[in-house]
Amino acid sequence: MFKNSLTIMKVYGIPIRLHISFLLILPFMAVAIGNNIEAIADMANLPAGGLSINPYVLGFILAVLLFISVVFHELSHSLVARSKGIEIRDITLMLLGGVAQMEDDAREPEDEAWMAFAGPLFSLVFGAFLFLVLWNFRGLFNNDLQIVIYYLGFMNIFLAFFNLLPAFPSDGGRILRSLIARKTSYLKATKIATSVGKFFALLFGLLGLLMGNLIWILIAFFIYIGASQEYQTKLVKDTLSDFRVKDLMTENVSTINENLTIKYLIDKMMEERHSGYPVVNDQGELTGCVTMEDVKSVPREEHSQKRIKNIMTTDIITVQPEDDLFAAFKTLSRADIGRLMVVDQTGELKGIMTRSDIMKGYRLKMLNQEQENKNKIEPFGR
Ligand SMILES: [Zn+2]
Repeated sequence: MFKNSLTIMKVYGIPIRLHISFLLILPFMAVAIGNNIEAIADMANLPAGGLSINPYVLGFILAVLLFISVVFHELSHSLVARSKGIEIRDITLMLLGGVAQMEDDAREPEDEAWMAFAGPLFSLVFGAFLFLVLWNFRGLFNNDLQIVIYYLGFMNIFLAFFNLLPAFPSDGGRILRSLIARKTSYLKATKIATSVGKFFALLFGLLGLLMGNLIWILIAFFIYIGASQEYQTKLVKDTLSDFRVKDLMTENVSTINENLTIKYLIDKMMEERHSGYPVVNDQGELTGCVTMEDVKSVPREEHSQKRIKNIMTTDIITVQPEDDLFAAFKTLSRADIGRLMVVDQTGELKGIMTRSDIMKGYRLKMLNQEQENKNKIEPFGR
């Protein structure tokens, strides 16, 4: 999903990726922590100047450890998600923490609430554990180690509470949405949670401006954009999920037999003004597709001998007539192709599904909704 990122390792089969913005924030954080090391030592009840490591080296170690705890926070989300049957594509570390990329939304509001709660719960328990260790075994650690344990514990507890703020799409915002969704539709719940999220974004932005703190302004910006995007995606998903592929696919598609020659194909293309065809075998089963592009790679003198099956593309992406339109839309976007072949369980071609077929569904639904709204408002107008 995120470009400009690279996989560093896999945990439980989930790729952990570093986004390029993460490489920018790491030294920045190391310096910020290094500059404030005296204040942190003070908070941890350590004597000033009692550290033996260079403050910036310590800052760097802390920044790395902090991001490792963020990975565990995200892993907690991911593992709970997986236990609910949702696939996790990857975890990407970026500018402001981590993002776990899920293949799909939670189907049940309760599942989403647990998924969202798992991350802050990890941060809270881990932070509390570090504080307990520090309180009970303080004498065992030198000052450097004490400050590391203290700061990591403090930041994890901070992360837990910060993420629990209902600033959708934060964890707390997701919990809020699933609570609202118990009383109303998911889309409406998303809309309300989005408004609350935007309110927090504005609040953070204002605070950031007043304090002259760039980080808060950035956080505000990301929450605002994130909230809007989530709502848009949810809206598209809800709209498209009302349709099945068979409702909007183009039927009676003109096909061509794989054993015919390229010359025959070109004549057919000219006559019917099509730039591509699904290819079938003698039994009528779909075996590939062929386009003008495939034809261009063959020298003209071979057109009468070469057959379509020699040049067609065979790795075609198919959907079933019963699939919902949103699933088809996602397949289409992910594969970055123009059309999907609609094939039933016996392998027979039933139709094709293009981007414009999908847009047609979206427009139809919007039109219907407008009509419904008009009908609702009219009695008051009279
Ligand atoms: Zn989280």
